[in-house]
Amino acid sequence: MNDSNDIIERVRHLSSAIDQALKAGDTDTALALMETGQHDMSKSLRGQREIDDLIRRTLFSHLDAARRSTDHTAESRLLTTATDILGPKENWLPQLKQYFMEDRARLVVVLTWQCETRCTYCTIPKQDGREMDAHTLDSAIELLMSSGREKLELRFFGGEPMMAWEQIQYGIEKAQSACQGRDIQFMITTNGYALTPERVAWLGQHPVQLQIALDGLPEAHNVHRKSVVPGEQSYEHSAIDKAAVLHEHGVSHEIIHVVHPARINEFVDDFEHIVDQGFERIQINWAHNVIWHEKHLQAFADGLHKLGDLLRKRWAKGESIWLVNLGETLLKIRTFREITVDHDGQIYANNAFLYRPSSASDLCLGHLDEGHNWWRYRLDGADGEALKKLSFAAPVAENNARVGTVFSSWIRWMQSQGLPDF
Ligand code: SF4
Repeated sequence: MNDSNDIIERVRHLSSAIDQALKAGDTDTALALMETGQHDMSKSLRGQREIDDLIRRTLFSHLDAARRSTDHTAESRLLTTATDILGPKENWLPQLKQYFMEDRARLVVVLTWQCETRCTYCTIPKQDGREMDAHTLDSAIELLMSSGREKLELRFFGGEPMMAWEQIQYGIEKAQSACQGRDIQFMITTNGYALTPERVAWLGQHPVQLQIALDGLPEAHNVHRKSVVPGEQSYEHSAIDKAAVLHEHGVSHEIIHVVHPARINEFVDDFEHIVDQGFERIQINWAHNVIWHEKHLQAFADGLHKLGDLLRKRWAKGESIWLVNLGETLLKIRTFREITVDHDGQIYANNAFLYRPSSASDLCLGHLDEGHNWWRYRLDGADGEALKKLSFAAPVAENNARVGTVFSSWIRWMQSQGLPDF
């Protein structure tokens, strides 16, 4: 048995003993076991990560099971035990609610800060030398595995993550072997520049979903998603002509159509162009972190009604085009807590540190070398409103909330008219 498996076995053993003690309401034994375990595991980072926060995680997992089985006696006994160990309920109930909400444990890794394009609406500083090495990626994968969830997701982000293609292949294969039969999936957010047919074929053999950014017509791409190479037409290097090869290899994908004020009068034409190239699942990401003036808001509202007509005509013809936003929970501004590991192993509450350096230190949750468990980063620290404040400057957040209101009210209207069931 290698060291890694040995650690897992020891943690399993300890976990089961703590389980029994907690079920019996024997908090003294549970805490004593935990103390011995911490001492035992302290010499290895892997061991520290596996044992970190074990009592809270075990209690939450039992409470989750009791809630699902509606075993009120067990639930009430566990609540008492949790209060004995974790303190007053108000200190941990918000975290417990978060724990209940998680189905799939997710982790984002920023493989590189470099990119082949310079989108006019992107404020991520592009820099050479900010690339994740194999050791950091290994440690990030260990962090995701430590969640103990049966369902897992590793997301590759940047910059442009496909520029680090070897790391993507390495990360996918490593995580698949480390998850020991659990349900793992991968997501790559890409501009499609480096999506060759050979790479699509390789991705088709793995549980990967692609989020591919496209802006639409050539003039949208070439002007707003500029290539870093002077004179190069970014449209020609985009994934606009790759629907067939993605279908051929069965690679799950959706298009991120960035809608921003500079193309607001043409965004429905851009959308239709994407659809006409054979893409069926499209998500509109209206540009955050830029100011939308009154005329842009009005043009957005007008365009959305045109888009509604376009979708209904296409649906009537039997086309399975799906606008992903129509099925989502309505939020004015999207600020998710999504544990994100930067190239150097720093861990953040979301990816806003990439485009808002002034908030980076407040968004920072720690470093991989600290040996904490995935749940520590998921449950503790800023969430919701606090995260929104850190992710957007106040005037921009207020302005962007108005764009969100226009979009949400259109989605509600579309829903009220009935939607196809693809
Ligand atoms: S492709 Fe992505 S990372 Fe690159 S410039 Fe555009 S938005 Fe920024």
